[in-house]
Amino acid sequence: MSAHIIDGKLIARNVRAEWKHRAAKLTEQGKRPGLAVIMVGDNPASAIYVRNKVKACNEIGIHSEVHHFSSTAEQDEILDCIDILNRNRHVHGILVQLPLPPHFENNRVITSIAVEKDVDSFHLYNVGALVTGNTNFIPCTPYGVMVMLEQCRITVEGKHAVVVGRSNIVGKPMAMMLLERGATITICTSKTKDLAQFTQTADILVVAAGQPGMITANMVKPGAAVIDVGINRLPNGSLCGDVEFETVKEVAGYITPVPGGVGPMTITMLLCNTIQAAERSQLTA
Ligand code: NDP
Repeated sequence: MSAHIIDGKLIARNVRAEWKHRAAKLTEQGKRPGLAVIMVGDNPASAIYVRNKVKACNEIGIHSEVHHFSSTAEQDEILDCIDILNRNRHVHGILVQLPLPPHFENNRVITSIAVEKDVDSFHLYNVGALVTGNTNFIPCTPYGVMVMLEQCRITVEGKHAVVVGRSNIVGKPMAMMLLERGATITICTSKTKDLAQFTQTADILVVAAGQPGMITANMVKPGAAVIDVGINRLPNGSLCGDVEFETVKEVAGYITPVPGGVGPMTITMLLCNTIQAAERSQLTA
C-alpha cells in the first residue's frame, strides 16, 4: 500500500491561520510583532530565502525589515546593527541569514543577538536550553517536523527515530527534540558504516544530508514515517529531496514530498517564533 503523503503546504497553511489571529491580537494591543533580517552579500539562494521570509511576514501581519550589507562589510558594522536591533522594542525577532562571508565569525555574530530575540534559535544559550530540556525557542526546521508528526498523530514516544545528518541547524536539534519526546535515537553521518542497517530499523526516519535520492526503498522499514528535509537542485533546475520519493512511498507508512513537505513548515515556524517572542515581550513589558 502506498504511504500517506504528508502535505506540508496544507499543515503550514493551517498553522499560519491560527497564528495570524495571535499576531492580529498583538497588533490591536499596539504591539505588532516585528522581525529584522540581516543579510550580508548577494548569495542568490539567500536572497530568495529572505524575500520569501518578508513575503510570509506580510501575509501573517508581522512587520519585517531587511538590513542588507555588502559582502565587504566589516563584522563590526553587523555587530553594531544587531546591537541597535536588540534595543529596538518594535523588533521582537532578529535573524542573520547564513552563510556569512568567510571573514565573519559565525558564533560571534549569532551570540550578539539578544537571547529573547533569537528566533532561529542558533544562539549558544538557546542551543544549551534545548539540549537541557529548558527550551526557549525551537529551531525552525526541527520544530516544523515535530508539528508535522503531531498533526499526523504519529507517536514518537517509545519509537526508534533515526536522523541522518548532524548539522547544528537540522540534524542535532532534530535528534534532541525526538529524544525529549521519548524516542530512542540514532544519529547517522557521512562516517556511518552501512547506513542501511540503521535506517531499516527506524520507525521514524528524518533525512537531512543534502544528498539527492540517497534513501532508497530497500533502506526503509515497512510502515515507517519518512521525513525528507533535504532540498537539492538538480542540473535540470528541478528540486528533489534526499529520499527517492517514488519508490520509498510504496514502502513507508508516511512520507513528505519535496517540494511541498518540510520546506513550507520551516518559514511557518519562524513566523510562530517571532509572534511568540512578541507575546513574551508583552508579558515582561
Ligand atoms: P549540512 O551540509 O550542514 O549537513 C549535512 C549532514 O549530512 C552532515 O552531518 C553530513 O555528515 C551528513 N551526510 C552527508 N552525506 C551523508 C551520507 N552519505 N550519509 C550519511 N550522512 C551524510 O546540511 P544541513 O543540515 O544544513 O541541510 C541538509 C539538507 O537539508 C540540505 O539539502 C538543505 O538544503 C536542507 N535543508 C532544508 C530545510 C527545509 O526547510 N526543508 C532547512 C535547512 C536545510 P558529516 O557531518 O559527517 O559531514
